[in-house]
Amino acid sequence: MTPLERLPALLLPWYEKNRRDLPWRQDRDPYHVWLSEIMLQQTRVEAVIGYYNRFLSALPTIEALANADEETLLKLWEGLGYYNRARNLQKAAQVIMTQHGGVFPRDIDAIRALPGIGPYTAGAIGSICFDLPTPAVDGNVLRVYTRYLEDGANIDKQQTKNAVADALRPLYRPHLCGALTQALMELGACVCLPNGTPLCADCPLKEDCLARRHDSWAQFPVRDPKKARKILFKTVLILRCGDRYAVCKRGRTGLLASLWEFPNVDVPPTHQCDPDTAAQQALTCATDLGAAPTDLLLQTGYTHIFTHVEWHMTGYLILCRKMPDSFLWVTKEQLETDYALPSAFRPFWELANEN
Ligand code: SF4
Repeated sequence: MTPLERLPALLLPWYEKNRRDLPWRQDRDPYHVWLSEIMLQQTRVEAVIGYYNRFLSALPTIEALANADEETLLKLWEGLGYYNRARNLQKAAQVIMTQHGGVFPRDIDAIRALPGIGPYTAGAIGSICFDLPTPAVDGNVLRVYTRYLEDGANIDKQQTKNAVADALRPLYRPHLCGALTQALMELGACVCLPNGTPLCADCPLKEDCLARRHDSWAQFPVRDPKKARKILFKTVLILRCGDRYAVCKRGRTGLLASLWEFPNVDVPPTHQCDPDTAAQQALTCATDLGAAPTDLLLQTGYTHIFTHVEWHMTGYLILCRKMPDSFLWVTKEQLETDYALPSAFRPFWELANEN
């Protein structure tokens, strides 16, 4: 028997004993598994739990998701980032309602054809919900696999992910498909850690693992070199008139599409060097926007890091006399309950609330 063939027998008993009790593991409802898998992309488990519970209590069924209005949907997703994931969830729910009679499809090709569902998510739903032999190969699984076998293939290439899925598929046995998928993910998340030293002493694969034997875990997985992020500098205006704040909606495409934001402008990097001049320019900008500024209460900086870009922002809380029509003027309560404000602007909002 090869080390790979031995893997399920080593891993499955460990998983049964050590699996975390997570809300989406309470049943095998495909809506629940699907939602959790989409939320967990790029987001930590601890952060997802609250979002998951809130989302399901607001939209408990695929039908409710299909019929939700966009503001509700984006508000439920507020802070999770990668908002197209939420939009695709809804598109897929609408396809399920119109083309599958409201029932989540069981066929892997039909699952894969739903908007926003790639090979990983389809594999997870297929194996966990329908006991199909469909490996779900994500970063956690790739890390475990490449370390276990000292496989130096570049995991950023789709052909590597396909090859790992092909290698894992024969290990999937009836009634254990979901457990194997989740066990691999769990080992990657909790033992064969992404950042920092893996907990090899606690790992059920330690006897066979080549990376452990050769102390070579740091060399796996092999990835593309990271590209430098683009850096943008922004001036953010938190315009307050009485108990109202100015917000505007971003364009329908691109980063943070259709979400709400405080008025802001891109500025050259040198702009931040002289705080007094920058503050004066923020007031001028507020004047040009027709808000008739009277006072600048606060000036603060914050950097938000997206996958490919960094926003280096300076925010100004400015009291105004006028409320130009080019913005929506909302109360604190409305902004909290009705409008999705991305995390990039949250620190300014929290600071404005304290002043
Ligand atoms: S023994 Fe260590 S390196 Fe190997 S799979 Fe387990 S945790 Fe990862």
